[in-house]
Amino acid sequence: MFFHVIVTNECNLQCRYCFGESMDDFDEDFGDDIEVEYDLPKKISYNIDVLDSFCRKDPECVLTFYGGEPLLGADKIKQIMDKVNPKLYMIQTNGLLLDKLEPKYVNRFHTILVSIDGEEALTDYYRGKGTFRRVTDNLKLIMTNGFKGELIARVTVMEQTDFYPQIRWLLNNDIFSFSSVHWQLNAGFWGNDYARRNFEEWSKANYVPDVKKLAAFWVDKMEQDGIVLKLYPLIGIAESLLHGESNSLMRCGGGWINYAIQTDGNIIPCPTMWGMKKYYLGNIAHADPLKLKKIFVDQPPCVGCRILDVCGGRCLYANITKRWRDEQYGKVCNTVAELVEAVKAELPRIQRLINNGKLSLKDFGYLKYNGCEIIP
Ligand code: SF4
Ligand code: SF4
Repeated sequence: MFFHVIVTNECNLQCRYCFGESMDDFDEDFGDDIEVEYDLPKKISYNIDVLDSFCRKDPECVLTFYGGEPLLGADKIKQIMDKVNPKLYMIQTNGLLLDKLEPKYVNRFHTILVSIDGEEALTDYYRGKGTFRRVTDNLKLIMTNGFKGELIARVTVMEQTDFYPQIRWLLNNDIFSFSSVHWQLNAGFWGNDYARRNFEEWSKANYVPDVKKLAAFWVDKMEQDGIVLKLYPLIGIAESLLHGESNSLMRCGGGWINYAIQTDGNIIPCPTMWGMKKYYLGNIAHADPLKLKKIFVDQPPCVGCRILDVCGGRCLYANITKRWRDEQYGKVCNTVAELVEAVKAELPRIQRLINNGKLSLKDFGYLKYNGCEIIP
C-alpha cells in the first residue's frame, strides 16, 4: 500500500491555484453531508513508533511525505526516516527547502515530485516571484549531491499555461531539464472558480490540440531515439491500452491502494480529503494497512461512462465534493476523452515499434501510484 504522510498542513508559498483560489472559496463549505474538522494539528502529533508499527504490518508499505509543504517539517521527516523502514520513500514538495535536507536523506528517496509549472515567467506567475530560481538551484544541488532516483516535474495546468511549449521546455532547456514530467489540470477542485474562468474555451483552443501535439512528439521521440519519455499521463494510458487493461478503479490509487495519513494519525482516502470525518478509515494506532475500507466512485456520470475503464473516475475528491456542477465538470471529462483518443491515435505507431523490436512493453513500465494521478 502507498501512504501519503501529511507532515504539516502549513505551506511556505501562496500559489494562485491553491491559496489564491481558497481565498475566493473561503465561505463555501462542502454541504451538510461532509463535515470537516478544521482544527487538526498543524504538524504530526502521533508517535513515530506508531507509524513504524503500522508500516511493519505491510511488506509493500510505501511512504510519501506530503503537506502543505512537507519540508517545513524536515525534523519529523528525519525522525521518521531514522526509525521507519518502508519498502520505499518518496516526497512531493515545492522544492524551496530541498537544500535543508541532508543528502543522506534526499538520496534515499525513490522519487521526488517537485512542483514547477514550466519556464521561469510562468512558474513565478503561478507560484510567486523568485520561486523558479530557488527551486531549480536546489534541484541542481541535489543532483550534484548524488540523487539518483526519479525526479518528476509536477505541473499544474490551467488557462495561463500555453501547454505544448511549456511541457517541451521542461523536457529540454538550458537551466534544468527533466526526464519525467507529470501534469494535472486545475479543474473541479474549487467551488466558485468556474464562472470567473474560461476553462472551456482554453481547453478547446489550446489544451486539447496541444495534448495531441505532445502525444505525436512523444512517439516521434520513440521512433527517432528509441526512448519512451516518462510523460505522465501519456505513459500510464498507453501502458494500460497496450496491456488491454480494463480497470474502473481510481488511477491515482486514491481510496483503494493510495491513502493518506493526517497529522493526527487518522487515515483518509486522499490527502485533499483532509479533515472530512465521514471518510476517516481508522487511525494508524489501530488500523491494519492491509484491511482498509475501499472507496469507489459509484454514481453517474462515472458509472455508465464509456471510458470509465481507462479513466477510472479521474478524481475521488472531485467526485465526492462535486465542486463544479455536472455540466461544468463535463468539460473536464471532454478533455479526458480527447486525451485518451490522442493516445489511441498513436497506438499503431507504438505497436509497430514494439513489433519490430525497437521498443518493448517494458519500456512503458513505471512505478504505479507514485503520486502521478494519470488522469489529469
Ligand atoms: S470521463 Fe468523466 S464521467 Fe467518465 S469516468 Fe472519467 S471522470 Fe467519470
Ligand atoms: S486525483 Fe483526486 S483523489 Fe486522486 S490523489 Fe489527486 S486529488 Fe486525490
